[in-house]
Amino acid sequence: MMAPELAAARQEPEKSPVDGSSVFPPLLKVGVFPEAVEARFRSVFAMIDEEALEQDPALAALIGGIVTRSNYRITAELMDRLPRLRIITTNGVGYDGIALEHARQRGIAVTNTPDVLNKAVAELAVGMLLALLRRVPAADSYVRSGAWERSPFPLGASLAGKKVGIVGLGRIGKEIVQRLVPFEVDVSYFGRARQEVPWRHFDSLPAMAGHVDVLILSCPGGAATRHIVDAEVLHALGPNGVVVNVARGSVINEADLCQALASGTIQGAALDVFESEPLGESPLRSLPNVVLAPHIGSATHETRQQMAELAIRNLVSFFTTGRAITPVV
Ligand code: NAP
Repeated sequence: MMAPELAAARQEPEKSPVDGSSVFPPLLKVGVFPEAVEARFRSVFAMIDEEALEQDPALAALIGGIVTRSNYRITAELMDRLPRLRIITTNGVGYDGIALEHARQRGIAVTNTPDVLNKAVAELAVGMLLALLRRVPAADSYVRSGAWERSPFPLGASLAGKKVGIVGLGRIGKEIVQRLVPFEVDVSYFGRARQEVPWRHFDSLPAMAGHVDVLILSCPGGAATRHIVDAEVLHALGPNGVVVNVARGSVINEADLCQALASGTIQGAALDVFESEPLGESPLRSLPNVVLAPHIGSATHETRQQMAELAIRNLVSFFTTGRAITPVV
């Protein structure tokens, strides 16, 4: 069955019946998209990429919207180059890369794609946690290299029986918990508000870190959560503790994390996101007790397609009714 958002988007008048051109203003594309996703956007909108804009600055006057992804920046300067800009649509739930206050002041709508990516991000969080505890990447190399013929692989750690603390029990955090409960873990969470859930709430992150074995980060990025996981929190987590970050790189003080991993202050980390992406030269790349992923929380064919459909629905709805489906601003 066709997803509701897909069906809705397909019913919209996508092209002019007169000459086949798009009935919507052109969009500026900021970022790289999977081929199928880009093709879907181009089936509804005329798209201008940043290179074309650089080569022909006059295009700026035509652009009515920006389409982007979570790990790209939409600055106030870029917005101000586009006099007819009315909407910024990000394919992702996080919008910490967008100069939100400036958009608000200029009356530019901002939309994201919540919910449709929850399952994919939660699957990755659980998968990376298991990969870290059972050292799956190292075990794979062990077999491939022939090391297994010389000695058995060192023991890993079980997930069953562990205390897990979620930093940010929101849409994604709850999906992570739902998947972790069958592993027989004890769940607690840190967030600004206590929620009507059966798990223990902590209003202090160092206190929760001191209580748990596994710290999973699934809160938003941005100024309010910048470096909330620092040396103090890592020290509290302790030598048997591990961190999983599927939130934003900015949430962890990466220098403190590298220090804690190298010195044995904590046992390990599984990281999908980094302070600077793509990850360049970094001690993380040579530490043995980390599992690393290139920001792929939502990166499945199914999820990226659903995110694109919701983004398109937002744009179509906004340009035809003035109201977006999932507005942030
Ligand atoms: P959400 O539903 O808004 O949940 C966010 C949670 O974080 C809420 O429970 C909130 O609880 C908590 N939170 C917010 N501000 C906080 C603060 N200052 N201190 C502590 N907790 C805070 O968001 P979501 O849809 O689950 O997405 C969460 C984040 O995941 C996104 O913002 C994005 O950065 C990240 N993400 C990553 C990937 C990836 O590819 N790795 C993909 C998608 C999303 P309280 O309000 O009670 O504090």
